[in-house]
Amino acid sequence: MASSHGSAHGLADSTGLTGPHDGRAWEGIIRRYAAFLPVSEKTPIISLHEGNTPLLPAPRLSERVGADVFLKVEGANPTGSFKDRGMTVAISKAAEAGARAVVCASTGNTSASAAAYAARAGMSCAVVIPEGHIALGKLAQALVHGARVVQVRANFDVALDIVRELPSRAPIVVVNSINPDRIEGQKTGAYEVIDALGDAPDVHCIPVGNAGNIMAYWRGYRDYYAKNLSTRLPAMMGFQALGAAPIVLGHPVEFPETIATAIRIGNPASWEGAVEAARDSGGQIRAVSDEEILEAYRFLAVEESVFCEAASAASVAGLMKFGVPKGSRVVCVLTGHGLKDPDLAISQARVPVTVDATLDAVLATLELGE
Ligand SMILES: *Cc1c(COP(=O)(O)O)cnc(C)c1O
Repeated sequence: MASSHGSAHGLADSTGLTGPHDGRAWEGIIRRYAAFLPVSEKTPIISLHEGNTPLLPAPRLSERVGADVFLKVEGANPTGSFKDRGMTVAISKAAEAGARAVVCASTGNTSASAAAYAARAGMSCAVVIPEGHIALGKLAQALVHGARVVQVRANFDVALDIVRELPSRAPIVVVNSINPDRIEGQKTGAYEVIDALGDAPDVHCIPVGNAGNIMAYWRGYRDYYAKNLSTRLPAMMGFQALGAAPIVLGHPVEFPETIATAIRIGNPASWEGAVEAARDSGGQIRAVSDEEILEAYRFLAVEESVFCEAASAASVAGLMKFGVPKGSRVVCVLTGHGLKDPDLAISQARVPVTVDATLDAVLATLELGE
């Protein structure tokens, strides 16, 4: 990537964990950005080399919206979503505190990430998920990494309420984004954007579910700005799904519904943080329909060759729907990998045809012309 290498522009590193030229700057976000994170020499770093994800120019999307658009491809993280940025910090801090077990409520990606990082740390991991609303790939990840998976007959918000109470009854650390270490780690997405572009973009588009990530990016942008590592702050544009848009509506949604299961949340834990990020940056929180999300999802796959989750495509759906001032520099966060939800992917594609195993039959179906 064309970013400057090294630890946060070679800023003095109070932790001593890394330096700008020690050759370890890409070994995960904690080593690269230790100076900005709540870690010390005593923190055991539990990393799968997350972060350092592509900031991919999107020429066709740029043409369509009349702006200079980049895609932050977070599906390239070790477990396939941005959750790994927060999880490496949360699990490392839990390890430092001597934790033996972690738990999360999850719409899927948090559980996949928690399971992988807990396994790496030698901790046990419990996952509480809403029954029937987890994409297949995410459930597979939690299971293969050895998590104890409990499905509750309720939506995500109820699952999180239960998880919040667990530490008062058992020795276990919650690694949902209500854990402040998660948010700290997720700030590094903004650092990487600025390191790659040389400055903050004009507009930052991001899906909003539980709203931790929009808050984290906003903090990250402000960190760099405060240290004169950027000269401006982006307008934060957060996008909820129309059927799960509590912040847009101004009240919780009891039965959130959307095909974008990662943002199927009716009562966001970081509600205030999202509202502040939008307000203080001159941005907005708005809603996009499932049809608009799916159109963006297909556009990204076919025109930009990026296969992301439906929830991730909400950022681009919002950009396409509401637009930006001409010539703006825009970053859209694509939060997770499309392979997470193979059922949705296949439902959106042309089904394969089956023919006899002859050259003529194959040729006839390909419609290649003379
Ligand atoms: C978690 C998640 C989101 C929502 O992020 P919040 O921090 O909860 O707003 C969006 N997309 C994907 C793929 C996710 O995993």
